[in-house]
Parts: sequence; C-alpha cells; structure tokens
Amino acid sequence: GTVLSVRDLTAEVEGTPILKGVNLEIKAGEIHAIMGPNGSGKSTFSKVLAGHPAYKVTGGEVIFQGNNLLEMEPEERAQSGVFMAFQYPLEIPGVTNLDFLRVAYNSRRKVQGLEELDAFDFDEIVQEKLEVVKMNPTFLNRSVNEGFSGGEKKRNEILQMALLEPKLAILDETDSGLDIDALKIVANGVNQLATPDNAILLITHYQRLLNYIVPDFVHVMADGRVITSGGKELALELESRGYDWVLEENVSEVG
Ligand code: ADP
Ligand code: MG
Ligand code: MG
Repeated sequence: GTVLSVRDLTAEVEGTPILKGVNLEIKAGEIHAIMGPNGSGKSTFSKVLAGHPAYKVTGGEVIFQGNNLLEMEPEERAQSGVFMAFQYPLEIPGVTNLDFLRVAYNSRRKVQGLEELDAFDFDEIVQEKLEVVKMNPTFLNRSVNEGFSGGEKKRNEILQMALLEPKLAILDETDSGLDIDALKIVANGVNQLATPDNAILLITHYQRLLNYIVPDFVHVMADGRVITSGGKELALELESRGYDWVLEENVSEVG
C-alpha cells in the first residue's frame, strides 16, 4: 500500500515561499531518491515532513499511512513510524546514547501497544543492532553525538533507524562528509533495513550514495517542486550531465 502521499505541498520560511507544490507518492517496499541543486528545497521538504516549527505549511496535504501527517505533533510522527536522519545530527550533552535510544525505542513500542523494555532487555537488542552499523559499544555510554566525527554521527543515525524499525525513513544528505568506508557501512545498514513493509526516502545532491543504495525512483527537485522523475538511470544521467539540462527541459512546463 501507499506509505506517503504528498499533494501540492507548499511551505514557507519566515514569510518566504520555499516549497511551491511538491507531489510525491511512495509505496511500501520502495526506495526513492530526491536529488536537486543546492537551495532547491530538499532539506526544507524533509523538515516539513518532520514537523519542524520554523517551516510553515501554506497548502497541500501529506498523508502518511492514511493519516494526515501535518496534523500530528513531531513526536507523534516519530512514534508512528516516521524516521528522520538529518544533515546535521543533533548533539545532546549530558544524555547518554544508550538512554536516548531506549527512550525513543520504548516510546515507539508504547504506540505499537507493546510493553516497554527494561535496561537489561534493551541492552540485548541494542547489541544486535550495533552489528548492523559496525559500531563500537563504547559509543553507547557517550553523550548523544557529542564529539562524534561526521561518520560516527551518521552511523549513530542508522543505529537509531535499526532500533526504531520505521515505516518511512527519510535520510537527508546522509552521504555528506563520509569517506568511502563509512559510506559503505551506512549504505549497507540502510540496505539491511529496507524491507517490503517500509519505504526509504534518500535526499542527496550527489549520485555517489546511489551506487550503494539503489533507488527504485529518482526525483529531481528544483525551485521547490519535483520537476521530473525517473528510475535509477536518471541519477547516473544527472551525474554525467549535471542539473542544467533537466532544469531547461522541465522548469518551463510547470511554470
Ligand atoms: P537544499 O536542501 O535543496 O539545498 P534547502 O531546503 O536547505 O535546500 O533551502 C531551500 C531554500 O530555502 C534556500 O534558498 C534556503 O536559503 C532557504 N531556507 C531554508 N531554511 C531557511 C531558514 N531557516 N531561514 C531562511 N531561509 C531558509
Ligand atoms: Mg544543500
Ligand atoms: Mg539540504
């Protein structure tokens, strides 16, 4: 079935329109990529989906698994299975990664009608998931993301994703700042977590990540709209030809 349906979504930041009518349909089992030039609205789109308060929705609708996502509080969105990995993961000094993960995990379980896990049982689960991202257990006892390298922060996000088993995972520029080994580990983690029941939305400026996580659909965002969509070959074409041709061919049509 359909996981996410976005229709004519418009949004502004501090009175400036940024999203100008985004349309997107994502079904279970699919991996979608949104590519596009810098400043085209990709991160704004992910923040609107997350419910970031600085971004004001001015029109359109977003339906997540049959529910109006835009009416849900950010926490509700997360608890109901929307996972967001941001371009710049938050640092939370004074809160250990393990505590943070357990709270997030248990609040998701609560919504699913499951019992909360105690520290002992949770530890067992988290140890399994560490393998997915090849992360050293010592990271669990450090403050969330504090002093983590770029690659370690991204791995930590995939660890969160592995634990929360989201219905929709949105990864914004997860590849940025990663060396090739870290990129492969992150991609491998995402690939292991992709199932016929969930959907993944990758947001990336560069094609590189898509060598490792192969999308079913590629969309190009420009000036706050999805101006064209295609299969994985579209990403390769963008890599070799840049964005100009696709803007010239498509921008005039949407006006
Ligand atoms: P992308 O992720 O595609 O590079 P963004 O969504 O980050 O693009 O930005 C789209 C446009 O919105 C840019 O012109 C950017 O300057 C503007 N923008 C994004 N966030 C803010 C903000 N918090 N305040 C003002 N302008 C913003
Ligand atoms: Mg950018
Ligand atoms: Mg961005």
